[in-house]
Amino acid sequence: MSLLTDLVNIDLSESTDKIIAEYVWVGGTGMDMRSKARTLSGPVDDPSKLPKWNFDGSSTGQATGDDSEVILHPQAIFRDPFRKGNNILVMCDCYAPNGEPIPSNKRYNAAKIFSHPDVKAEEPWFGIEQEYTLLQKHINWPLGWPLGGYPGPQGPYYCAAGADKSYGRDIVDAHYKACLFAGINISGINAEVMPGQWEFQIGPVAGVSAGDHVWVARYILERITEIAGVIVSFDPKPIPGDWNGAGAHTNYSTKSMRSDGGYEAIEKAIGKLGMRHREHIAAYGDGNDRRLTGRHETADINNFVWGVATRGASVRVGRDTERDGKGYFEDRRPASNMDPYVVTAIIAETTILWEPSHSHSNGK
Ligand code: ADP
Ligand code: MN
Ligand code: MN
Ligand code: MN
Repeated sequence: MSLLTDLVNIDLSESTDKIIAEYVWVGGTGMDMRSKARTLSGPVDDPSKLPKWNFDGSSTGQATGDDSEVILHPQAIFRDPFRKGNNILVMCDCYAPNGEPIPSNKRYNAAKIFSHPDVKAEEPWFGIEQEYTLLQKHINWPLGWPLGGYPGPQGPYYCAAGADKSYGRDIVDAHYKACLFAGINISGINAEVMPGQWEFQIGPVAGVSAGDHVWVARYILERITEIAGVIVSFDPKPIPGDWNGAGAHTNYSTKSMRSDGGYEAIEKAIGKLGMRHREHIAAYGDGNDRRLTGRHETADINNFVWGVATRGASVRVGRDTERDGKGYFEDRRPASNMDPYVVTAIIAETTILWEPSHSHSNGK
């Protein structure tokens, strides 16, 4: 065991300039993360200097057997906290050989929206609160919960410490530090209301990079839970009944909202979000109807409500923002299994590019 650890921890730079690049992408279900590694001749710090690569899309639900090649385009580089040294993680998106993005490539449309001049001028920032649940391997039952039974009711677990209240802290802390090492803009972690459920926050990160940071943070979490022999679940309601679901609250601001008098821009943006509630819910993750019940700190999926400091709202404005007359707001609707490329892009699109009158004439 220790010889294995010694070998895994070899510092490559002592014997070679070569580095290992782990190419990471989102697979065919839209939630599975895939990766494979290749050797490069030396350190690289700009994705445009990395070679494109390919994989067998028929094995990931992303292509057919007779035309199976999918092309990986490197988009963002992070340091590899597992291999360390000059080794890197490379977030990629997926294209057909003819250069067209394949249907599971949600980054392509996001990058398009975030490169629109009107969107760029507003410098949209996102802060994403990624909730997740740790499950015991083989039985898919939350970490720390008794086999075939339930822990005591919710109350003592949120932000708690103690062997009877907190389950999985080593994993959470390993992930926190690994993300910081990688260069991910992770802003904090906390234990959640349901025992075995946790949250990490990404941000604020600007534009399409927010999605890159969330996806790579998810990838690192999959790798760490793999080492720990624990399952990470992004299901929005992993345990039915009187247990909190898991969301991905998305905090958002534009330059106008962050500037003096920004509260007006915030109210205007929230008004537009309300008008496109259905479109947003459709983009905010599968199974979200099991979570957005109007209970357990959520708003009912069929209604759009917003308010200051209310946790039963679809959109919440913080007290600080109200007091300062500028700042940001929180869209509480996205589910834990949402695609951050999709969610960030539709929020920017609705609040910056979309105008109600146009859409009404389209019959909506
Ligand atoms: P909550 O009080 O809802 O639990 P958190 O502290 O968990 O909120 O998360 C808030 C998130 O909002 C963090 O990721 C933070 O980086 C982000 N954030 C802070 N300021 C802004 C801003 N101006 N625009 C967008 N996101 C922001
Ligand atoms: Mn939070
Ligand atoms: Mn939370
Ligand atoms: Mn929140």
